Amino acid sequence: MEKSINIRIKGLVQGVGFRPFVYRIADNHGLKGRVENRNDGVIINVAGDENVLNSFINDLKTKAPPASEIHSLEVHSTNKKAFTDFQINKSKNISEEITLVSPDIAVCMECLEDMKVQKHRIDYPFINCTNCGPRFTIIKSLPYDRPETTMSIFPMCEKCCSEYSNVLDRRFHAQPVACSNCGPKYSLHLNGNIIEDQGLIIKTMRALLKEGKVIAVKGMGGYFLACDALNQEAVRKLREGKNREGKPFAVMFPDLETIEKYAFIDEDEKKWLTSWKRPIILLRKKNELARDVCLDFSTIGSMLPYMPFHYLLFEENQFNALVFTSGNIADEPIVIDDKSALQIFLPVYDAVLSYNREIFNRVDDSVGMIVNHSERIIRRSRGYAPSPVHLDLDVDGIIAVGAELVNSFCVGKGKQAFLSQYIGDLKNLETFEFFRESMTRYKNLFRIQPQLMVCDLHPDYLSSKYAAQAGLPLMEVQHHHAHIASCMAEYKLDEKVIGVAFDGVGLGDDGHIWGGEFFICDLNEYRRLNHFEYVMMPGGDQATLHPWRMAVSYLYHTFGTDFLDLDLPFLRSVDKKELELVIQMLGKKINSPLSSSAGRLFDAVAALAGLCSHSSFHAEAPMRLESTIMEASGERYDFINKGSISFVPMIKEIVNDIQHGISAEEISAKFHNTIIELILEICNQLRAEESVRKVVLSGGTFQNRYILERVERKLMANGFEVYAHKKIPSNDGGIALGQIAIAAKRRAIGVI
Ligand code: ZN
Ligand code: ZN
Ligand code: FE
Repeated sequence: MEKSINIRIKGLVQGVGFRPFVYRIADNHGLKGRVENRNDGVIINVAGDENVLNSFINDLKTKAPPASEIHSLEVHSTNKKAFTDFQINKSKNISEEITLVSPDIAVCMECLEDMKVQKHRIDYPFINCTNCGPRFTIIKSLPYDRPETTMSIFPMCEKCCSEYSNVLDRRFHAQPVACSNCGPKYSLHLNGNIIEDQGLIIKTMRALLKEGKVIAVKGMGGYFLACDALNQEAVRKLREGKNREGKPFAVMFPDLETIEKYAFIDEDEKKWLTSWKRPIILLRKKNELARDVCLDFSTIGSMLPYMPFHYLLFEENQFNALVFTSGNIADEPIVIDDKSALQIFLPVYDAVLSYNREIFNRVDDSVGMIVNHSERIIRRSRGYAPSPVHLDLDVDGIIAVGAELVNSFCVGKGKQAFLSQYIGDLKNLETFEFFRESMTRYKNLFRIQPQLMVCDLHPDYLSSKYAAQAGLPLMEVQHHHAHIASCMAEYKLDEKVIGVAFDGVGLGDDGHIWGGEFFICDLNEYRRLNHFEYVMMPGGDQATLHPWRMAVSYLYHTFGTDFLDLDLPFLRSVDKKELELVIQMLGKKINSPLSSSAGRLFDAVAALAGLCSHSSFHAEAPMRLESTIMEASGERYDFINKGSISFVPMIKEIVNDIQHGISAEEISAKFHNTIIELILEICNQLRAEESVRKVVLSGGTFQNRYILERVERKLMANGFEVYAHKKIPSNDGGIALGQIAIAAKRRAIGVI
């Protein structure tokens, strides 16, 4: 039977080759009609035989382009329209609703093949198609059309134009379409010269890297610093240029086979590494690269090429691995501006590789790891931002500013929460500027009409101050409640749960620093039913920078000043005057805020075990502690659960172990096992008391693979329903989502 229907599709359907895809399958089915891109979705009008239409709809759902995402597909019957052909209508801006902005997509296989055969694109490093290429990084406003991108300054040549206009071409309406004749070009700044010949650039780059040079390379969402990851001298030079940064560097490998030489890798990891998102995945180290790449850590942040240029660089098999770390100074955001790149990098490194297309939106590489066969995002940026999180709550007009250290923010439109890309540490001036600029852009891009600001309870966070100055109603949300709500939002939970929030720092509602918290909570409110016993943080922030201070604080808490007679190895390296000062602070309780933070406990144990007395980057001590675990040990230490959790017995046992020459590897394993057991014990207790069996885990501590893996399994084995982050970071990068969920819930039930 002949029918006319109207299909309305919402989701990620712009800039991912959706309309040409619709055209092609309509053509395959011999259907006639129209498809139209609007800012509120894709609309299809088709007429034809009912069976054919059903098969067409089925293909829409099952054969959609890889980077597209259909969130809803509605079909309505319409009055019969007589179409004589199938056409794609021009984009229309028709309502306040919006479609989504596609994240950037790694170059596809077809384009890599085209790059070797298409005459106008032989080795052309900006090749792209409707299924791949830059998106968010070049988009200035919606709807997504070339004039609204940083490609607008490159008029298409005749050839590109005909591909762009040919509905059956792979580059039909690919907005960044380009070729050697008309598109962007690289330029290599070296020894006061500028090399413009594209072929020569690739050759020179390979030669320079082979010689051990360090080069700043303009990537998709910013500049990166690259060098041969097997050349210790080169890696050391890179590290020194970055002010001897202590963090492990991410590494790009040419293919999976090469990764397998250096890291252990399973099927889940392979799948994520090769996905169009191409994140950095933390893999377990098998063989050493240059020592300075991973700095004794047991994992390698690994990724595969995602730009055509990366593939060209790895041709001729010159390298097994290249360091690709973000090009920035200290805690500043990754550099995107070409002029600054030359100013900053040329004096320090050997060359700067740039290209003449502007990066409009800055995005870092995303980072993740596989735990219990699931993807866990740690840093959500390239390939993810600015995709929204879909909620069952009306978040419209709510702006959540996040926390301070690993900031990202969130803006609400309808039931969609747009979590920004990773922003960084707001205490840095440039980063705070990046925050403000991105906030304005998100508001414009997604047509947000701000009604309500949400911030952390901590009044000194720059994000909180920003929110307070907005001139809108302001809601403050406790940090760990926001952590739990963030994970609840990810799973669309809206009920009473057991919340386990472990992290480094978050202001509690009693004015102390929290971070080892057990809640019974829902999206509206929480009760704090258990937590780590308070200990002092001598010198406040200084205790965070110098984990030995936390070790001393825990020792003092356990033994009083008698701990000085214990002859502990880590104390020998501590400056005597500083130690005296710290003991005075503890004795007089001055400048020593109280903290129940899990992060500070990990710091203390890491320092006690002799693994990290001074921290050169955020969470270094807990990372070193985890990295040193000897998996064989099933033993654990004791703790006392008396309404709060006291680690006095554990500290005594650790001291005893140290004095009996027990290795740091074993101490670390026993400590981690203790944390796992205590989570299980307290959850069991709360389930019995409160009849709640859903456990939500959040906070930076759950980035610890050893803990997350085992806590999830044990809780499940004990009959709990366990919710841990997968798509949203469990660190403070996910906080804004929790804030927006709490605000939406409170607004919905009228408790603002
Ligand atoms: Zn492609
Ligand atoms: Zn062209
Ligand atoms: Fe936190």
